[in-house]
Amino acid sequence: MKTAVIGGGIAGLAAAYELARTGRPFVLYEASPRLGGIIQTIRRDGFIVECGPDSWVTEKPWAQTLVRELGLEEELISSNDHIRRTYIARHRQLIPIPDGMRMMVPGDLEALRHSPLFTQDAQLAYTRELERAAELKVSALPEGSDESVADFVRRHFGDEVTATLAAPLLAGVFGGSIQDLSVRAILPAFVKMEREYGSLVLALQQQKRSSGPAPVFTTLRSGLQTLTDSMAATLPASSIRLNTSVTALARNGAIWRVFTPLESESFDAVVLATPADVTRSLLAPLDPAFDSLLAMDASSAIVIALAFLPTDAETIQIPRGFGFLVPPANGPLVHEPQLLACTFVEQKFPHRAPPGAVLLRAFFGGDDAPRLLGRSDEELLALAHMQLSQYLGHLPEPSFTVVRRWPRSLPQYAVGHLTKMNLLASRLRSLPGLRLIGNAYHGVGLPDLIRQGREAVC
Ligand SMILES: Cc1cc2nc3c(=O)[nH]c(=O)nc-3n(C[C@H](O)[C@H](O)[C@H](O)COP(=O)(O)OP(=O)(O)OC[C@H]3O[C@@H](n4cnc5c(N)ncnc54)[C@H](O)[C@@H]3O)c2cc1C
Repeated sequence: MKTAVIGGGIAGLAAAYELARTGRPFVLYEASPRLGGIIQTIRRDGFIVECGPDSWVTEKPWAQTLVRELGLEEELISSNDHIRRTYIARHRQLIPIPDGMRMMVPGDLEALRHSPLFTQDAQLAYTRELERAAELKVSALPEGSDESVADFVRRHFGDEVTATLAAPLLAGVFGGSIQDLSVRAILPAFVKMEREYGSLVLALQQQKRSSGPAPVFTTLRSGLQTLTDSMAATLPASSIRLNTSVTALARNGAIWRVFTPLESESFDAVVLATPADVTRSLLAPLDPAFDSLLAMDASSAIVIALAFLPTDAETIQIPRGFGFLVPPANGPLVHEPQLLACTFVEQKFPHRAPPGAVLLRAFFGGDDAPRLLGRSDEELLALAHMQLSQYLGHLPEPSFTVVRRWPRSLPQYAVGHLTKMNLLASRLRSLPGLRLIGNAYHGVGLPDLIRQGREAVC
């Protein structure tokens, strides 16, 4: 049984790795000159700069398992959770999110009382949510139905928490609007908590009693590209086709034909690990239903890293913590494109910068992305430098910078996403031998994609 894996990001690499590990024949097609997709690490002057993802969520085990299999356990490092703190930017000030929050849900209502982040009304809404536990359990989101993240959070905590905390938290991760994102697809753990406890505050209090603290994020000491490079190193060179875009697919009975600009080849199975837009254009000619099933919004991300050597960093005042989020601006898009978030990289993880140095990663995107993607690196750097200075005070010139644009890289799981995924799965049953993996379907995070990739070829 010979398999074509199309797309060499983490999802496609995981499928190819599993095929190689179990000694089965395959060809991995990758359009670009390198494997790893959005995962890319730059190592320079003692800094480790991630151009895409910087870590994974520790509680999902599939990335760790793979790292251990590859013999990289010495590389595993955790986030510096003793200084885990994220700030919300407001009126050019950085206000800490109170300790013990899981996203917008407090584990400790007392910790909110002294926080300038919330008005008394919002604090009251939190207390009332706990008191309304029984009522919220009765009115919990019915099985099989969906609503937006904004509606869900508003039902529990009201407008202020929705705008102050939920909107920037979700925009920071998905680059999207919480008015559109599906709570069932994006926050399944909260939907489950509501069903079991009614109140999310109550659910978190109960969970805290039963589980100890664990580091939130895990990464690799030398950067995430070490993972994708190590996976690639396990693949037979003869199975890898770089700089090779797949342009069309055809099926004749049980045999699949994969077309590239120069040739075509036959396979028994095809794993499509391409971004949703590409998957859609490859599948729609085989079955027009895929045109609508794979049509989805995707937001673009722009990552701008600024590295400051110790001599320059002396003058920079960075608060202790992992970084800050900027709540989305309200109203029509007349404002200057706005920073979404910034990570204080050398504080979030150890070994990311020389001692005394500072490494900032600024993120733009969301609704502003179409106006930003066409700007030059110099324009984007000037914008990032100016907006970061508004929150962090004077910033000297960085010793070097990195700018990366990731157009349409984060698919938006809109309300009804899971129903659409069920329809997609049933349609795929009419095309035996075909599997779809990648961040458009069942999770955008690295552990989920590794799991999907490996399971697709089991
Ligand atoms: C800025 C940013 C930060 C993120 N941070 C995190 C994080 O910290 N933690 C986390 O868990 N997740 C994070 N994510 C999400 C995660 O990085 C992505 O969901 C994941 O890397 C996507 O992997 P993939 O394999 O699905 O797609 P991709 O990495 O996009 O790979 C798809 C591959 O297909 C190739 N391709 C396209 N068309 C063709 C074709 N016709 N023929 C052959 N090949 C083709 C592309 O060149 C590409 O290499 C982040 C995402 C972004 C954009």
